[in-house]
Amino acid sequence: MPTDDIKILLVEDDDRIRREICGALTSAGFDVAVSVSAHDARNALFRKLDLVVLDLGLPDGDGLDICRDLRAAGNSVPVLILTARDAPDQRVLGLDAGADDYVIKPFHVPELVARVRTLLRRAHGTVAAGPLRADDVWADPESRSAGRGDARFDLKPREFDLLVFLLRHPGRAWTRVQLLDRVWGIDYDGDERTVDSHVRRLRAIVEDDASDPRFIETVWGVGYRWRSP
Ligand code: CA
Repeated sequence: MPTDDIKILLVEDDDRIRREICGALTSAGFDVAVSVSAHDARNALFRKLDLVVLDLGLPDGDGLDICRDLRAAGNSVPVLILTARDAPDQRVLGLDAGADDYVIKPFHVPELVARVRTLLRRAHGTVAAGPLRADDVWADPESRSAGRGDARFDLKPREFDLLVFLLRHPGRAWTRVQLLDRVWGIDYDGDERTVDSHVRRLRAIVEDDASDPRFIETVWGVGYRWRSP
């Protein structure tokens, strides 16, 4: 199953943590929706989801209740709980409430992504991983490295994320707003020129001739696309 078909709901009220996790899961290629409260989460859970990352301490409720209610309703979506409560009995309560795994705050985001993959593998079989390729251009989301043939690119984090996103969807045109949402995240406040400046830098690195790009095409009146395979 390709990662961008995998829908993850992230329930977290803390802005900084939510942004960090959302960014990491999005760059790992997952389709991420966010909820900032228990009320939001209960509405979002009606959608078809592949995994839920659930904070326990929400402003209007306890994540444990959400998890218990999900299971009581017969929903078996994998749930990874985030808890700041380090007491062992809280972890046990989470697992008793039907969670599949837990991560204790503060945590390393790559560890959380690894646990997400493990849960998805358990639920769906193998999740596609490994380098993405188009001609001799490649990008490896796991090691966050990219290059052309044997030459490595020196990319800033967001340039890397943009390259990975475009490589995952060859031939598909994206508007600047869509790219901002999907690569920078819905919480990002920048404007569409941010996309243009990143495309410019990426072309200077990836293309033989940035003024006549072979890979990252401008789609007039729309935005950009990685050329068709
Ligand atoms: Ca919280």
